[in-house]
Amino acid sequence: MTDSVNWVMSKSSHVKDNVKSDKGCKTACFVNVNSVNLTVDHPELKVSLNNADRCFADGSGLRLAAKTLGINIKDNVNGTDMLPHLCEAAQAQGISIYLLGAKPGVAIATAKNLRKHYPTLRIAGAEHGYFDRSQDNNVVERINQTNTGVLLLAMGSPVQEKWLQDNASKLTCNTALAVGGLFDFYSGQISRAPMWMRELGLEWIWRLMQEPKSKFKRYVIGNPLFLIRTFVFNCASRGF
Ligand code: UDP
Repeated sequence: MTDSVNWVMSKSSHVKDNVKSDKGCKTACFVNVNSVNLTVDHPELKVSLNNADRCFADGSGLRLAAKTLGINIKDNVNGTDMLPHLCEAAQAQGISIYLLGAKPGVAIATAKNLRKHYPTLRIAGAEHGYFDRSQDNNVVERINQTNTGVLLLAMGSPVQEKWLQDNASKLTCNTALAVGGLFDFYSGQISRAPMWMRELGLEWIWRLMQEPKSKFKRYVIGNPLFLIRTFVFNCASRGF
């Protein structure tokens, strides 16, 4: 988590495939079980994730899948846990944050809540994520005019990753981060799972209980499907 936050805050130009580019901002996404499942129906999401400068491993599903490949993921780096660290670092370094996404009013409520905890944090702007794609250039212009350091983009997958793919080269901020439903938590719209559930990797059960209709496919069907896909992938890559 510390390495990831340092990377987000660092002013270095972005590096992709060992090629340094000064065009646009560097981009990062959080990859979890749902994002991997979504790449099956949305192959363009896989392209966007592979094009991001960083993909952070979010959640116990990815940890488990990585383990079957002999990889030990160092830490669970999800947006909800990262935000307090980011705000602390941004406040200490005088770097501003722009909040873009979620339903009207939610980004502003998030900004207000963050200001309560981080009184000198500079929030460069806050706006909702339900705009027509023909407005992309205007949105980019508004963000650029604030000279923000970090953009948090909370429009859900695969919309946010596609938006970054299309617009990152025009953004003048240092880093843009796709953070999914983050503002819904920090605005107080949805409460987070108790710590013991998070520690056991069971936060998804909490989210399912809170939004059973919209999260049923994602968790009840998606989690076993991910495990089956991991098994099939491993068999195929071992030549079975
Ligand atoms: N959203 C948005 N614009 C859109 C579609 C969705 O800003 O065009 C927001 C939505 O209001 C919610 C977030 O994106 O706040 C998606 O949350 P979810 O938990 O589904 O995202 P995930 O964490 O799974 O990527």
